[in-house]
Amino acid sequence: GVQRSAGDRLPRYVRVNTLQNTVDDVVDYFKRDGLLYQGQASRLEDFTLREKEFVRDMHLPELLIFSPKTDFHDHFLYKAGHIILQDKASCLPAFLLNPPPGSHVIDACAAPGNKTSHLAAIMKNKGKLFAFDLDPKRLATMSTLLLRAGVTCQQLANQDFLKVEPDNAQYKDVEYILLDPSCSGSGMVCLRDNASADQEKDQARLASLASFQLRCLNHGLRFPRLKRLVYSTCSIHSQENEEVITACLQENPSFRLVPVLAEWPERGLDPLTQCLRASTTKTRTHGFFVALLEKRNESRNMQQ
Ligand code: SAM
Repeated sequence: GVQRSAGDRLPRYVRVNTLQNTVDDVVDYFKRDGLLYQGQASRLEDFTLREKEFVRDMHLPELLIFSPKTDFHDHFLYKAGHIILQDKASCLPAFLLNPPPGSHVIDACAAPGNKTSHLAAIMKNKGKLFAFDLDPKRLATMSTLLLRAGVTCQQLANQDFLKVEPDNAQYKDVEYILLDPSCSGSGMVCLRDNASADQEKDQARLASLASFQLRCLNHGLRFPRLKRLVYSTCSIHSQENEEVITACLQENPSFRLVPVLAEWPERGLDPLTQCLRASTTKTRTHGFFVALLEKRNESRNMQQ
């Protein structure tokens, strides 16, 4: 018979773009479309949905969950930018960074911009959202996505984040950074079977990604008024996750890890249990990692 991959069995996640619509109105729209609203989920088992059924997520207020076969790519609400098709785990970084409206924010490796549009929604389009990406094609896709999503607070630049100058006056009020750098993608369920047979080559690739990720992280922490930085990857390898964070904290003692989302079922590998992990089995998502770093209170440091 036909083998189904784990990706076909993951629920379909729909993030309501609150710049264009409200969750209640989108729920009503789907109900009028003949879909069956089951209320808010309270446990993982509630994500096991029959065709047409949908629920609201218990962690992310703007997230709706549908059965695995649902496809909204041709749906009016998708084409109009009212909904974003985004895995639940990948909604965590912007949600946890939670920049207030009016703040100045950097999305360091931003394209194709799902997290950028999420940040803009949280900021209610107020403030400044600097978004960088090295790849001009991906940046062009992003610009279309943001237009459709009604994002207006962004400033896009086709630029290497590592060459963005932290002391430039433009960034003097940046207090929040989202860093979602290139990674192995080993958490993406659809890519899992692609692990090469050449283990030495895989190890070399991981080591080179990890060194890039650490450089990006160290660079982000150099912005003078930075308060909080969220680091995320769609990798399941500790080399790109806990090990990068550990090395970064050793080099930057003025930052600490913030424990996030106590009710989340999967934590970073010991001892970095302040961080979150995500997986098909424990969270019904792609494999993912998120860490929240915060600048320590300086006056308290001086007393120590
Ligand atoms: N945050 C994006 C989203 O949610 O849609 C996904 C980002 S993807 C994991 C990583 C991105 O980093 C790629 O688009 C890649 O082109 C970009 N990138 C790689 N190296 C970079 C660099 N040095 N500076 C800026 N962007 C870079």
